[in-house]
Amino acid sequence: MPSSSKMLRSQVMTVWMSAHVLRVMYVSANELFPLETGGILLGWRSGQDRVVVDLRGPGSRALHGRHCFIPDHAWQVTEIQRAFQASSGDLDYLGDWHSHPDGIAKMSDLDEATLSKITKRVRGPLMLIVAGRGTEWTARCWKGQSHGSYFWRRQIVEPQELTTFVPPSDWPKPEACQDRSPSETMQ
Ligand SMILES: [Zn+2]
Repeated sequence: MPSSSKMLRSQVMTVWMSAHVLRVMYVSANELFPLETGGILLGWRSGQDRVVVDLRGPGSRALHGRHCFIPDHAWQVTEIQRAFQASSGDLDYLGDWHSHPDGIAKMSDLDEATLSKITKRVRGPLMLIVAGRGTEWTARCWKGQSHGSYFWRRQIVEPQELTTFVPPSDWPKPEACQDRSPSETMQ
């Protein structure tokens, strides 16, 4: 049972993360190590909860640096539309993910600013960070939330509970992360 202090919070939610999707992120992060990589999370909303069942990587025109990562935004938008149509509307954009190679799973100032920006156009977006190296990777998740009135709104970034699950075998398999190899890198 959730604690009473948790119940008082307006947006108690769980992020259900497919174990397969998490593994693909760790493998992708390892392949680009020590450069950052990332992509988008796909799945659906269930009440306040989010169910992440698929992902996409950075895209071939993404830029990967040691402490920064710029995804191939145009490609990602196309992929979101394609996934939405192919799943008859089941799969939708839920947020972004990226790696902190040899770092910790914590939001940087830039990460917070990026999530706040996404929050202005997407309802309750997630940002998931995978951090570590080799076989030692951890993941943590945050959600952006808009508060305030029509005239005065501000975006709040809150950590979210992440619960890994193994999807039933009759669920559609997520697409492999086919776009992992970067065409360009930057330092
Ligand atoms: Zn970051």
